[in-house]
Amino acid sequence: MKALQLTDPGVIEIREVPVPEIGPSDLLIRVGAAGICHSDLHLLHFPVKMREEPLTLGHEIAGTIEAVGSDVDVRQVGERGIVYLCWSCGVCRECISGNENVCLAAGRTAMPPCPGLGPDGGMAEYVRIPARSFVPIGDLDFLQAAPMADAALTSYHAIRGAREHLRPGSTAVVIGVGGLGHVAVQVLRALSATRIVAVDLGQDQLDLAKRCGADITLESGPDTARQILELTGGRGAEAVFDFVGVGPTAQMAVESVAPNGAYRMVGLGGGVPGVTADPAGGPGWPWGASVRKSYGGTRSDLVDSIALAQAGRLTVEVDRFDLADAREAFDRLEAGKIRGRAVLVP
Ligand code: NAD
Ligand code: ZN
Repeated sequence: MKALQLTDPGVIEIREVPVPEIGPSDLLIRVGAAGICHSDLHLLHFPVKMREEPLTLGHEIAGTIEAVGSDVDVRQVGERGIVYLCWSCGVCRECISGNENVCLAAGRTAMPPCPGLGPDGGMAEYVRIPARSFVPIGDLDFLQAAPMADAALTSYHAIRGAREHLRPGSTAVVIGVGGLGHVAVQVLRALSATRIVAVDLGQDQLDLAKRCGADITLESGPDTARQILELTGGRGAEAVFDFVGVGPTAQMAVESVAPNGAYRMVGLGGGVPGVTADPAGGPGWPWGASVRKSYGGTRSDLVDSIALAQAGRLTVEVDRFDLADAREAFDRLEAGKIRGRAVLVP
């Protein structure tokens, strides 16, 4: 079968590899669609090898069950679904509480095993998955379903965890209206009556934000925090969701979040928010505000995201590519030329 593999730092290629063998508790999935996340670009540019043998990328996977392991009795060949990306232990205190994204078995700062980041992922014709990670999607289109596995899951999780801040009359800022951000705007719209301010570098992205339900759009720059303060009577936004996470956006969040507000850092750009309060009341971190580094989401966040899509409340702007054209799709994502989510079809 064909698979898109990371062979060396910075090098991806389509390679011919064997169809994976499955164990007794696994499923073999015939991939229908696989989304490209900006995290795949971070991985591509990671300076050291993730593992010795080539790694098939792809953690946003939708497809059909092709084969069922001998110990699995709850799934059937032909079922359609997506893959929950936290391959957690399922039995630790966090997992049984539903917080599989912070599974204790993964250690303090590690993440649970994730397809395409350790085990082989779904940018291929077939992928092996643990049966537990399969989540049915009914008749949802594969191109729409694949981005539910991360773009929607992660956005939904960050927003659900901040919903007490999203009362009517509040303001929520979405920084970065890409694959995750344009979904986040729709999730905010569906779950709350908050006023949504979307921030991005590009006009196309800001236009997309408007179509997704943003009330106000702002071009990202050194003046953006001041503009947000102006829009909120000097107090700041009750919630700031940062889907970029570089130094300038972390700074923007620190300077525009309200007292007692929520800063949710999702983007993995390596920025560090300076959260020291300024006793003189200057532009620093306001009293009572909280910051959370948000990773993935729970299984129930995924089920909720799928339900939103099935109800027509969440539509991913998809840029479709054949698997054979993956290199071009990665280049376009890197150049900021993808609107919404790039999705590969094998
Ligand atoms: P993307 O490339 O699709 O979108 C990023 C958007 O941010 C683009 O629209 C871009 O124009 C915009 N942008 C870039 N710099 C900006 C700036 N300074 N100000 C405002 N906007 C700016 O990326 P994505 O797939 O949506 O991923 C977003 C980030 O989230 C990445 O860092 C990714 O690795 C991370 N991520 C984190 C998790 C998690 O669990 N924490 C999960 C998935 C993705
Ligand atoms: Zn666990």
